[in-house]
Amino acid sequence: MKNVLFTDLDGTLLDFFDYSYDTAIPALEALERRNIPIVFCTAKTLAENEYYRKEMGIRDPFVVDNGGAIFIPRNYFAFPFDSKIKGDYCVVELGASYKVLRAALTEIREETGFKITGFGDMTAEEVAKDANFSVEKAELAKAKEYNESFIFDEPKEKEAILFEKIREKGFSFTHGGRYYNIHGKNANKGNAVTILTQLFKKEYGAVKTIGVGDSTNDIPMLKAVEQPAIVKNKKGTWLDITLPDIYKADGVGPEGWVEVVEKFILLTI
Ligand SMILES: [Mg+2]
Repeated sequence: MKNVLFTDLDGTLLDFFDYSYDTAIPALEALERRNIPIVFCTAKTLAENEYYRKEMGIRDPFVVDNGGAIFIPRNYFAFPFDSKIKGDYCVVELGASYKVLRAALTEIREETGFKITGFGDMTAEEVAKDANFSVEKAELAKAKEYNESFIFDEPKEKEAILFEKIREKGFSFTHGGRYYNIHGKNANKGNAVTILTQLFKKEYGAVKTIGVGDSTNDIPMLKAVEQPAIVKNKKGTWLDITLPDIYKADGVGPEGWVEVVEKFILLTI
């Protein structure tokens, strides 16, 4: 049976604070040797995904902007499917465009007076400082196409009003480890995982899907896989979630990721 790994990046495969994944390199290499697809399923942009794919030598499909779109390398699957050709990829778009999302945030800001600062309102230097990125990586993070990340500088109790406004305008939201995100209604990691699972099944027949995450924006992905798993977050605790068979790794971030990969993939084949 073909195993397919869906993985979040920030706080899961990448360390929450410094984005390193050194601990995970041997496990990544073991997966690559066994030809197990490693599908990034992340809030990160196309440009950021390309950066890490290149660095890690991964050639599998990936999900950008929190489920806003699926990028599949051309000719990755042996059959045609419904998608748009963009450069070297077949793209399945699930989300609203960046322009539309920016306009909605501006409206919400005007209607509520909330202090909302999107990546589009910040310079690369400002994003770099806030996210603890290099300026070069901040440029990649700003290149959003199907999602806008923002800082909500208001008391926690006003969150409910923000979420209601977003819903009212026909969009959806997530709160990752660090930022809030606004995106199209159908854009979520779960829908992207479901579509990709069907494609993998068509290609390989029986498929076992494993999903690893750390925070609330991973919940739809965790629900869409056969074996969900979470790693500990920066506080050393787990996301508050109850799902049948969910595995809770002892390790924080990449250490927990390795634990999951060993337990459910490397030690089973
Ligand atoms: Mg995360």
